Amino acid sequence: MLQGAMGVGKSKAKVFDAERPDTTFANVAGYEGVKAEIAEVVDFLRQPERYRRAGATAPRGVLMIGPPGTGKTLLARAVAGEAAVPFFSVAGSSFVEMFVGVGAARVRDLFAEARKIAPAIVFIDEIDAIGGRRAGSGMVVANDEREQTLNQLLSEMDGFDPALGIVILAATNRPEVLDPALLRPGRFDRQVTIPLPALAERAAIVKVHCEDKRLGPDVDLNVVARGTPGFSGADLANLANEAAIVAVRDGREEIAAADFAQARDRILLGRREDSNVLLPEEKHAVAIHEAGHALVAALSTHADPVAKVTILPAGQTLGVTEQLPLVERHLYGEDYLQDALAVRLAGRAAELVELGQGSTGAANDLAQA
Ligand code: ADP
Repeated sequence: MLQGAMGVGKSKAKVFDAERPDTTFANVAGYEGVKAEIAEVVDFLRQPERYRRAGATAPRGVLMIGPPGTGKTLLARAVAGEAAVPFFSVAGSSFVEMFVGVGAARVRDLFAEARKIAPAIVFIDEIDAIGGRRAGSGMVVANDEREQTLNQLLSEMDGFDPALGIVILAATNRPEVLDPALLRPGRFDRQVTIPLPALAERAAIVKVHCEDKRLGPDVDLNVVARGTPGFSGADLANLANEAAIVAVRDGREEIAAADFAQARDRILLGRREDSNVLLPEEKHAVAIHEAGHALVAALSTHADPVAKVTILPAGQTLGVTEQLPLVERHLYGEDYLQDALAVRLAGRAAELVELGQGSTGAANDLAQA
């Protein structure tokens, strides 16, 4: 801490090290549209001179918008890998320090380094940490630091010669909080959205992460993809790894379909707890409750099919009735929603009918309903 205090206004010795990633677009599964859009940056970095001679304005900043784990960092590395240029990676939050002026100095250092070895990629993760809207008058002084950092970033972006070949890729999940000044032409004027992967993309991502693993004959990656709606690329990478671990624990080198199922449950529900044993009457109540969900789901025309029912406690959950959509919907009709509500409430309804009273087990159902 003493060192930090003495070094106010001066940034640490050598904070920014360039890497030369060997990541390529082939490592990024799916997202073909995004890759096509960002390939332009690769082309520019390979030959910035050509763009200058043609009088074309080169891309300077690309903002990647999407939830965590969707491969934004991976994509940025792949751009550097494809273009064979150095890659600087910083987290927005690392600029925001206790001392006013330190962040701005770091930004200055970062770009000085990048200029030395341009063409290069500068990747700023969580840019919202520095790029939030600047306060108008009357805001607290505590924002001074962030504001100075942001101003420094803006002036660096405006300052460098486009022919130099520095492209800034930034990632955020909260574009709405960014200062509009960042989005002006010549700054982050290109934006690509990177949503959670859709069904086919999930299959492709799992496939990439299974390339170094041995899969059993019963493994269908489309089934895995279907069972993982809402998973990000990072979640899927984790899933493949967990499945391999399950297989190893079981003394096998080949991953079976059941290993994927078990890995998925562990990620979604938490580890299965043997110590978490229920009293017999509790177990009975959980069984009644889950049977209610499952029965109504099976009997409702518009409800998603039941994929699995369990009363083995794991993590915080005592039992689960899992439904999986056959197709990925983007729009939900009233009939679907009505049935979904009925399924939700059916756990408690079953308890009332069979046991004559409700229990706290339905709290989450009620909240969601
Ligand atoms: P973000 O920067 O969006 O939070 P990352 O790039 O850090 O996400 O992704 C974390 C990890 O998830 C990657 O290192 C990779 O293993 C995996 N991953 C995410 N998206 C993909 C994808 N489209 N293809 C392959 N792997 C992916």
